[in-house]
Amino acid sequence: MAWVLVIASLFSLWIISLCKVLLLSRIPFAKRFTQNGRAFRKRNVLLVIAHPDDESMFFTPTINFLTSKGHNVQILCLSIGDADGKGNIRKQELFQACVALKIPMQQVKTVNHPDLQDGFGKVWNHSLLAKIIEEEITSRCIDMIITFDNYGVSGHCNHCDVHHGVCKLLHGTLQRDLEVWELVSTNLLRKYSGPVDIWLSMFWAMLNSNGTMQCLVNEHSRRSFIAMAQHSSQWVWFRKLFVTLSSYTYMNTLKKVQ
Ligand SMILES: [Zn+2]
Repeated sequence: MAWVLVIASLFSLWIISLCKVLLLSRIPFAKRFTQNGRAFRKRNVLLVIAHPDDESMFFTPTINFLTSKGHNVQILCLSIGDADGKGNIRKQELFQACVALKIPMQQVKTVNHPDLQDGFGKVWNHSLLAKIIEEEITSRCIDMIITFDNYGVSGHCNHCDVHHGVCKLLHGTLQRDLEVWELVSTNLLRKYSGPVDIWLSMFWAMLNSNGTMQCLVNEHSRRSFIAMAQHSSQWVWFRKLFVTLSSYTYMNTLKKVQ
């Protein structure tokens, strides 16, 4: 009997948390994230990822927040995800996913560099990454970068290298008004707690009242599933389970890189 109570409690907590996410998605509480203490201005945001599908698996709440507020979101994907020889297919899938995420195809760029190939154990040169990213921010007049933190959500070495490449660029660039935000990696329990993580995410964001940590709630959680489903070659049962259970489907906590 006890286990029935536990399951019923967990189910209730899931539903209550989901309602909280839906409610919060209608409140513009994260205004300071893009306004930086000033009146509204349209930001040119570059989302820097390692593989096609990173945007749909991890960053959908951020993308939905930015596009719904009228900001210009561009994506730089630093590999075509060719670990299984499906790079060209995955590249096309990224474009389809971006259509679902309301990002025009001309604002999406993939890099297929011989020294930046998808895979565990493939070390990506941080100076090379910084150079490629700098070319993008210059040519597209980017004033905000969003990327992984130093654990990269899943611990994938390519995600971590992207983070270090962005940091190298930030410390070397002369562009002083460039803002960089990283997606905070959480522990396993929080990562697979779906909408339930909203309580802790909001608590951490509130503790940092100076605005250096922001919790962005997904305004269209269903869009995470639709976008990820465009990655047909990756849309297997365990990724369907991941998108359902992952807190990254429902919210993103972003931390400003100083
Ligand atoms: Zn990835």
